[in-house]
Amino acid sequence: MRCTSFFGLSLFLLACGPTAESPSPNEMERGSAPNWSIAIHGGAGHFDTERLSPEQQTAYRASLTLALNTGGAVLEAGGSAIDAVVATISIMEDDSLFNAGRGAVYTATGAHELDASIMNGADRNCGAITGLQGFRHPIEVARHVMEDSEHVFFSGHGAGEFASAVGAEPADASWFDTKKAHDRYLKALERDTTREKFGTVGCVALDREGHLAAGTSTGGMTYKRHGRIGDSPVIGAGTWADDRTCAISATGWGEYFIRTAVAHDIHARMLHGGETLNEAAERTIQDEMGALGGDGGIVGMDRVGNPTFSMNTPGMFRGALRSDGAPAVGLFATDVLEP
Ligand code: ASP
Repeated sequence: MRCTSFFGLSLFLLACGPTAESPSPNEMERGSAPNWSIAIHGGAGHFDTERLSPEQQTAYRASLTLALNTGGAVLEAGGSAIDAVVATISIMEDDSLFNAGRGAVYTATGAHELDASIMNGADRNCGAITGLQGFRHPIEVARHVMEDSEHVFFSGHGAGEFASAVGAEPADASWFDTKKAHDRYLKALERDTTREKFGTVGCVALDREGHLAAGTSTGGMTYKRHGRIGDSPVIGAGTWADDRTCAISATGWGEYFIRTAVAHDIHARMLHGGETLNEAAERTIQDEMGALGGDGGIVGMDRVGNPTFSMNTPGMFRGALRSDGAPAVGLFATDVLEP
């Protein structure tokens, strides 16, 4: 499956590659732009209607809707895109359905090592942490790195020290333990292999001031080796935002997203090649990351608030909400999101 767009079948055509119907960036701007706009993902993977029971599907839809409404309320009240991204991802980090914060997967040594990153499209300031342990909201720590340090990236022990110094909320190791993640860990342990675990979370937003932001938070991959770093905290791979082009949050097999610098590649195609967000996202996901053998997807937003989703997996939890619409969520690649 390729990409799915937000506003029904007509825009489905626009979203799926460089067709004659694809609008130029300028044409897109002439459309009615929302005051604000937000879009999220809750991870991509090999799940379909057979692997997710109706009850599970209902639960995911409810969680995605809650997250969208949380971020939307921040933007409606005049909050910044960064505020909305942090509020939205924080809610998802507390939700054990997702592989971020509570519900994060286990490493090979049976621990939780959390990764997160955030970027502000207004000035391309950014912050990231990797291998964080013992803090409830990794995305907030990433924001502190961006706003309260002269650096952009902290790891492991140093990330924890920094989180304490800025007063980030601590959490016991038990906060992150969930049966679902532990069962997956036991299966991986049996086979001694890294296993897919969907559920990374990400958010992109456009605020009333016209600024974009993006953020991503994850526990990584089940049974990852101690110290392994995926794409989610790597600026340019898992996260990117630039007011001139787009905001991107990725999810999938991190090694491949790093190798193809997915988030920055989409931005660069738009900036230097004049591609639309939909074209750029499709080419990067299918022709670059996917062509190497990776899988996953992205949620993106252009500078006038049009959300897009692109993936090469059968499933990606996702949703979008604009100031002039209602929350729309989807789980499977075949879902067309209606406003
Ligand atoms: N990209 C994440 C990682 O490789 C995992 C995911 O998004 O499912 O750590």
